Amino acid sequence: MKLIFEKSAPGRALSLLPPCDVELVALPEELVRETAPALPEMSETDISRHYTELNKNVHGVNCGFYPLGSCTMKYNPRIDEEMAALPGFTQVHPLAPAYATEGCREVLETASKYLCEIFGMDACTFQPAAGAHGEFTGILLIKQYHDARGEGAKRTKIIVPDSAHGTNPATANMCGYQVVNIPSAPNGCVDLEALKAVLGEDTAGLMLTNPNTVGIFDENILEITRLVHEAGGLCYYDGANLNAVMGVVRPGDMGFDCIHSNLHKTFATPHGGGGPGAGAVGCKAHLMPYLPKSAMMGGEGIQVRSFAGNFLVVVKALTYIMTLGQEGIPEAAKNAVLNANYLMRKIQGTFEPAFDRTCMHEFVLDLSGFKKETGVSALDVAKSLIDYGMHPPTMYFPLIVHEALMLEPTETESRETLDWAADVFRQLYELAHKDPEFMHNAPHNAQIGRPDEVRAARTPILRYQKAEA
Ligand SMILES: *Cc1c(COP(=O)(O)O)cnc(C)c1O
Repeated sequence: MKLIFEKSAPGRALSLLPPCDVELVALPEELVRETAPALPEMSETDISRHYTELNKNVHGVNCGFYPLGSCTMKYNPRIDEEMAALPGFTQVHPLAPAYATEGCREVLETASKYLCEIFGMDACTFQPAAGAHGEFTGILLIKQYHDARGEGAKRTKIIVPDSAHGTNPATANMCGYQVVNIPSAPNGCVDLEALKAVLGEDTAGLMLTNPNTVGIFDENILEITRLVHEAGGLCYYDGANLNAVMGVVRPGDMGFDCIHSNLHKTFATPHGGGGPGAGAVGCKAHLMPYLPKSAMMGGEGIQVRSFAGNFLVVVKALTYIMTLGQEGIPEAAKNAVLNANYLMRKIQGTFEPAFDRTCMHEFVLDLSGFKKETGVSALDVAKSLIDYGMHPPTMYFPLIVHEALMLEPTETESRETLDWAADVFRQLYELAHKDPEFMHNAPHNAQIGRPDEVRAARTPILRYQKAEA
């Protein structure tokens, strides 16, 4: 597909700007550019076609199945967008005086109240702009807590299980902590003996995802948080993806002191491509004094972002929570779990789950045996799915499973879609035994086949180079 600059034709420029109704001001000479910018010139029809064509080359939840494990690519109800588009929310200036922003403040306070209820926490901040940013904020709460008690200097370690999302050790490191990795037990959960062995006076805290990244709820969770507290550490809950537990069990009741949740995963805002997110952070009362300072929400701690964070994402999350309500939230969670188990059992027999037990909202397939048998890798299967109009699952994560494919169907997929998905997996399983070569070269029907991923990462071309005339 051609770029918009390549489609441009001189003299075809559009002028859709209304006539200027304010006094013209001459800019100082040094601010004025010497040559006109090379903006594309196109007719409205061609622009419209250009973006429609681009749109066709993108896969989103509105185009088809998107079982990207750990990422919760869930359907974003239209009403969320309608609410976030209200002029009272989109036109507000972040420096507007308090009397002019009472509605926005009410949105933040109400969202905070509901999320505290879902988290089992006492207070919330919406400043962090993403999940990893929320982790950073949460670990800073823990750090400030230890500092205030005069224990900051000796509590230097954060414990992270080997199944953790990569952002967890990165966060602990960025906050100045030493990361202590502990291995998982054979069932994918925290190995209690391994945990006990590393706990001590130097423990600042533990970072944990539960259900963990293999989609399993840790049955020892109360014992885990008790052990950490006994050693004087605090417990951080990575709730990026609360889809299996929202409205069913609360991280606060599991013994966690603080949490972040990705409003752009669990609470419906679409994501991917780096779009605006929100890593809401909740904490118990003993961490409240350290919440980031915010003009809208109070707080006295270290500010992690300007103003109130990505406010419109909070509007969408609040709309999502209010439309589902007290019954709908746990129902969505239970359907997410049901859909994941249904799909896992339907696929089983061809591709095998890494852990053969009831899963939560996602499950992991282990393709290492299949690869030995056929030479076809998890990557080949993922690329082949593209030809069927399915977005590939998360690949090669968690690291504790080899040749991993991690699927999360989410709650809004119908039984027909899940049956279709299982059928596609079965077809690929058979194809791999008949024609592995075909799968090594997939996808066959996509705009781009297999990009050189190393070169793309090492020498990315991020700007369009205009050809010399
Ligand atoms: C997505 C995710 C994160 C990071 O969230 P970002 O918004 O991408 O920074 C952290 N932990 C888990 C378990 C996740 O799934």
